[in-house]
Amino acid sequence: MFEFDPATHLTRHVTSRGTRVYVMSIRAFAHLSVNSFLVVEGDPHAPTYTALIDMGSSETQSRLGLIAGLEAVRRDYGEQWSWASLSRLIVTHAHPDHAAGLPWVRTQTDAPLAAHEWGRLILEDPQADLAQGRPLIERYVAWTGVTGSYAQRLGRRAEKSWMPSGVPVETVLHDGDRLDDCFDIIHTPGHEGSQVCLRLDNFLLTADHVLPYNSPPLMPEWVRRGGGLSQYLASLDKIEPLAGIDLALGGHDMPMPHWRTRITDLRERYESKLAALLEIADVPQTTEQLTLRLYPNIREAQAILLIDQTAALAEYLLVQGRLSSVDSSDLPARFVRSS
Ligand SMILES: [Zn+2]
Repeated sequence: MFEFDPATHLTRHVTSRGTRVYVMSIRAFAHLSVNSFLVVEGDPHAPTYTALIDMGSSETQSRLGLIAGLEAVRRDYGEQWSWASLSRLIVTHAHPDHAAGLPWVRTQTDAPLAAHEWGRLILEDPQADLAQGRPLIERYVAWTGVTGSYAQRLGRRAEKSWMPSGVPVETVLHDGDRLDDCFDIIHTPGHEGSQVCLRLDNFLLTADHVLPYNSPPLMPEWVRRGGGLSQYLASLDKIEPLAGIDLALGGHDMPMPHWRTRITDLRERYESKLAALLEIADVPQTTEQLTLRLYPNIREAQAILLIDQTAALAEYLLVQGRLSSVDSSDLPARFVRSS
């Protein structure tokens, strides 16, 4: 029915108890692929449980990639899953590359949706979430001292939600829950407040908390609940001691057999980013000025994520007292290394 999109890579992994996990890499946006997962239990001819975890963006190419991936699971591996018999939908965190495909998926299946309680508002009522977050975003734009097109780009977040329409969350997840006698829910805020990692037998689905190649984008905690570096590092500490995990599957890119080494690398990476920021904070500067000094050859498309990152790092250093804010009542905020 659909052409197989060669950009959709499909891999299969089997847990210690025989559950099949299909990882479909789909193109969420022109320059970003995301992993969607189909988890299947029971006889392939008549599965007893099927869960779709994350579903790409709202773009057409993403939807076609998801359809192609699901078709390939049936064609290449003989798994007789169907939209009608799907048992469960899960969103690992409320970000556009993972969850904006949800309204379309909702038109295909009645499978109940599970998501963390902190993601409920944006998934169910994007307009209410936008209204609630708008004053903070507006203050944030002023706080960072961004100018020109960067200010426009940052400000756009207060104008339009990435979630095309609301979808009810039937099962609200909390840290420590066990879902469908299949997944253990581990709340891992930092990259996003609503983010959960899912333990499935000897596998850990890490969402964007641990990724093989990139350190996940961060925002300051004061702008978005559950964001920020302090939360992020605490969530790394939280998953690191988990015993019996042989494979981590992230929300992007390749599987991670050596996921603990990756946690160590990520901590070191943030330590060096913090050190680099302190190094250049010799005179009072705004978040935008600090970012442009750290990344002189910044490209417009990356700039916003890097400004968010500098803001998150500065927030962390302020709390630690290693950075001070000058005239703290005044916007934009200016930071200087503590003496
Ligand atoms: Zn992502």
